Formats: sequence, structure tokens, C-alpha cells
Amino acid sequence: MTEPKLEWDTPMYRLAVAQLDQVAAKMKLDENIWERLRVPQRSLIVSFPFRRDDYNTVDTVYGYRVQHVLTMGPTKGGVRYDDDVHLGEVTALAMWMTWKCALIGLPFGGAKGGVRIDPQKLSRTELQRITRRYTMEIIEMIGPDRDIPAPDMGTDERTMAWMMDTYSGQKGFAVPGVVTGKPVEIGGSLGRREATGRGVVTCVMEACHHLRMQIQGARVAVQGYGNVGANAARLAYAAGSRVVAVSDVKGGIYARDGLDLPKLDAWVREHRYLEGFPGADSLTNEELLELECDVLIPAALQNQITDKNADRIRAKLLVEGANGPTTLEADAILRERGVFVVPDILANSGGVTVSYFEWVQDAQQFFWTEEEVNERLNKILSRAFREVLASALEKKVDLRTASLWRGIERVAAAKAVRGIFP
Ligand code: NAD
Repeated sequence: MTEPKLEWDTPMYRLAVAQLDQVAAKMKLDENIWERLRVPQRSLIVSFPFRRDDYNTVDTVYGYRVQHVLTMGPTKGGVRYDDDVHLGEVTALAMWMTWKCALIGLPFGGAKGGVRIDPQKLSRTELQRITRRYTMEIIEMIGPDRDIPAPDMGTDERTMAWMMDTYSGQKGFAVPGVVTGKPVEIGGSLGRREATGRGVVTCVMEACHHLRMQIQGARVAVQGYGNVGANAARLAYAAGSRVVAVSDVKGGIYARDGLDLPKLDAWVREHRYLEGFPGADSLTNEELLELECDVLIPAALQNQITDKNADRIRAKLLVEGANGPTTLEADAILRERGVFVVPDILANSGGVTVSYFEWVQDAQQFFWTEEEVNERLNKILSRAFREVLASALEKKVDLRTASLWRGIERVAAAKAVRGIFP
């Protein structure tokens, strides 16, 4: 197939496309549909002025929103604030969202957004101005029936509240369904904050069951102690695992017998970063990945496990909380070495699943209890895991291939029945 040299053509986009290509070839996907799925349907790059708190400095900021597939319903995907974010990264993430939603059976296509800033370096008022202006710049693309943003790296509930408020202000009435992952006071769902981490741990438990490993006492290492990583660590700890190492952007901490997570959370609330936590040794993010442990959960960035370190990964089970943490080459090495990998589009799908619950609750103005949310999430994820595992065993492929296969197959079937206009 000819390689179009397009604006989003970057290494991360190429990883997403290479994954699609590998599976599409295996499943003998219709070539016309295959070609369509390799590129996003809509992508928008915006630039806008941003006034710093000192009033005199005005920076130009870049923002993105990409909708990969509009066939399945409205599109859905997070907004990332990161100083490296670019169109190729957002496009890859949008593509993974398409497969993830289809794999779980949610009525959405994939989307993603990003703003190229370092949120750590900005004040709350600066972040608010950027968020509101970014929302205005992409306002024609989003809406509860069009495209529904959510939090991702560097954004949170507060960001979603500002987006919802800006959008609603323009419409003249409250539109809670325009974003998910917002505070419960304005139509957020109970359980959304913990949902991605909860889904990760559901997958850990299912995989442990399959591998005949005990979750109690299992040594768990988590890279990234943000929304996904911290919640996954807490739930693994609550399930009786020993969380031996966690990390953030500044580095990691390690305790052979397991970290005291309630104490660690109190420390982070006070000090923001993990460094200096008493009673733990420090280690680098690279060392954390290579630690002797049972379960490794990368929950920070993409491109962490590569051909450079895959042969030094000592975990038995790798459950991808982050999107795209493992490169294609590393995947092959891990497979060869017998590391059991639960891929991102399955392992971190708890977030979008509860985002879907939130969108449904907003549309109906009828809200569920936290128990209802968690129970439905666990049921959906456990079923998805077992179906993917059964399909992987039947097709003699790994879980990533089986997950992608299922997602791609559903999108391709929808495209085939909708046909082509005109
Ligand atoms: P977050 O911003 O809440 O946390 C990110 C964590 O990673 C922080 O602890 C940060 O310090 C750390 N980090 C940042 N740069 C790092 C670096 N260079 N090295 C090591 N650690 C670094 O983000 P999040 O929402 O938890 O997202 C983490 C990952 O999970 C991303 O890949 C995201 O796409 C994915 N994800 C998030 C959700 C969600 O619901 N939030 C859902 C699905 C997937």
C-alpha cells in the first residue's frame, strides 16, 4: 500500500498505523475500508493568543482536535495538555479511541485533542484562559451529539468544568453532555475519576486468574502517579497487592515490602511530587520499568517499552494503563519472552466506559449510584477481557491483536453497511 506523506505522519502515528496494518492483513480486511481507516476523517489545528498573568506577555499557543471515524456515532476522546503534543500524536490517540470504543461496544468513534503547553508551568488562571479559548477555537467540532471531550494527561475535572461552562455560555443554556469526566456537581458521574484505574485492576485480576497468579501479595510497579496510575495503585493495594514502586515526572520511589499508599497519598497532597517520601528508596523511571516484579503498569506516557529495554522487563504481566506505552518491536520481544501483555485499548478502556455512562446519565438526567457505576463497569470489562482472551486463544494471537481485530472488525462492518456517499 502506498504511504501518504501527510501532516500527521509522525512516529507515534506510524505506530498506530503499523498496528492497524498488521491486524488488517491478518484478518484480510477489505482494502478500501483499510485505506480509509489509516487516516483521520477530520483534523483541526488552531493557534491562538494567550495572555500571561503578567498581562504584557502574549504567547501563541497551538491546539488540535482530531476525529478519526464518524461512522459509529458521535466521536469521543480526551484532551491532552503537554508541551510535546502534536498532530501525529493526537491522530494516533484518536485512532486508538476508535478501536477501544468499538472493542467495548460503545456507540462512539474515536477522537482526541491536545494543547501544546506544559500545564505544570502555568497558574490556575492561565490554565483557565487557555482552556476557555481552546474550547472556543474548536467549538464547531464538539457537542453532545458531535464530539465529546474528556480528561487525558495534564487535564482533569476542573478543565472539563471550564470547557462545559464555555460551551454552555455560547449556547445560552447548560449543556452537561458536551464533556465527560466533569465534577459531579454539574452532571459528572460518580466513579468516573477512578474508572480508568479500576478498569486496569479488573484486567490485572482477570489476567492473574488466567495465569494462575495470586493478586494478593503480587508485587506491582506503576509508572506515573496521576489519575490512572494512582487509582490503579490504590485499587491493587486494596486488593492485597504489594505496590513496590511508583513514579512521576521527577522519578520514582521503591520499597521492597510495599509502599504505604494511604501515607503516600497524604504526602503527595502536601508535596505534590513523590520525591522525598520517607522510608522509600528513589529510582529512575527507567529502573522502575526493569524492576523485578509480578505486575508492571505503565500509566504515564507512550513509547516507554521499546527494543532498547524490552529484553530487561522482568514483570510476568504487563497491563497498559497509558496509551501506546509499548512499541511494535518491543511487543515482539515481550511475546517471545513470554510476558503476558494486556493492551491499552482493553486495559485502559474503563475511562471511556464510565464516560459513556456519564453521557447517558446526562442525556436522561437520571443519575446512578457509585455501586451501580462500578458494578456495570466491572461486568463490561470482565466480559470484554474474557471475550478477547477466548478469541486470542482461538486465533492463536496475542491479546493486542485480538483486541484490535475485534475493534477494527466492528468499525469495518458499520462502514460496509453505511456505504459511500454519493
Ligand atoms: P495525569 O496527567 O493525571 O498523570 C500523568 C502521570 O505521569 C503524572 O504522575 C506525571 O507526573 C507522570 N509523568 C508525566 N511525564 C512523565 C515522564 N516523562 N516520565 C514519567 N512519568 C511522567 O494523566 P492520566 O490521565 O493519568 O493519563 C496517563 C496515561 O493514561 C496517558 O497515556 C493517557 O492517555 C492514558 N489514559 C488516561 C485516561 C483517563 O481517564 N485519564 C483514560 C485512558 C488512558
